[in-house]
Amino acid sequence: MPAPHLETPLLDAHVHLFPPEQRVERFALAGADQAFAELYGNPAATMADLDDLLAAMERAGLTGAFAAGFAFASEREIRRQNEYLLACAEETERRVEALCSLNLAAAGWEREAERCLAAGALGFGELRPRHQGWDPLGGEAERLCRLAAEAGAVLLWHTSEPVGRRYPGKEGGITPWELFALAERHSDTLHIGAHLGGGLPFFWQMPDVRDRFQNVFFDTAAAFLLYDGGSVRRLVDMAGAGAVLLGSDFPLVDPARHLRKVRAQLEAEAARRVLGGNAMRIIERRRGR
Ligand SMILES: [Zn+2]
Repeated sequence: MPAPHLETPLLDAHVHLFPPEQRVERFALAGADQAFAELYGNPAATMADLDDLLAAMERAGLTGAFAAGFAFASEREIRRQNEYLLACAEETERRVEALCSLNLAAAGWEREAERCLAAGALGFGELRPRHQGWDPLGGEAERLCRLAAEAGAVLLWHTSEPVGRRYPGKEGGITPWELFALAERHSDTLHIGAHLGGGLPFFWQMPDVRDRFQNVFFDTAAAFLLYDGGSVRRLVDMAGAGAVLLGSDFPLVDPARHLRKVRAQLEAEAARRVLGGNAMRIIERRRGR
């Protein structure tokens, strides 16, 4: 395989990993954590580890991924998860970048955040403030945004559409309006609104909004489970190709299939940005290049 920097970057900016021991303990964890139970209490919900991800990346031809875990309530589980994500990043020479987990409702989260940044985390996510009981527009969140801005780190927010059917895990994150407020208050921080930003991109059709909020990205995670088959093309039309990130939500969605569907909707230049160029800008900002 050629060295990563010689390949055209093809990055999946939204995947989830668990350390093997959390997979073994999933039912005990579900008994202790209601939000985790909502998403992973069902044995049919897959939990993937690094080997699963690398195999999926290989099948899809991906050169990189941003890997998050789950927004556990327990500090112990968060720490176990962060150890694993950081080890995955190191082992893969950062083909897999770590988005570490945090619980801002727990005292001492800042120490964990600083530890993760010092160990090279790309950022934090997938943030689910309502599941953990903290205010995305409160003081702790403000400290997180400042910390991220100083480190050039990115924040991935679970952003859910305020209408439509309910499903496990839909709630627990932030609303599109909260994503907008975060972007406005913390314009030096890079934010990713997961799941097409819950619909916020509609307003990116306003030139003053699109020009002003270049610190916000929208990912395509689970796009075709939530929206129709033309949704990513319309997302790019509304938000601009510079604001959209390929993200599958692996292992919920197979990256190869997702990539094929997204790619089929994009012109060459938009594809270059959405499928890897924009994610590379996020990495470069963090690494200070
Ligand atoms: Zn999500």
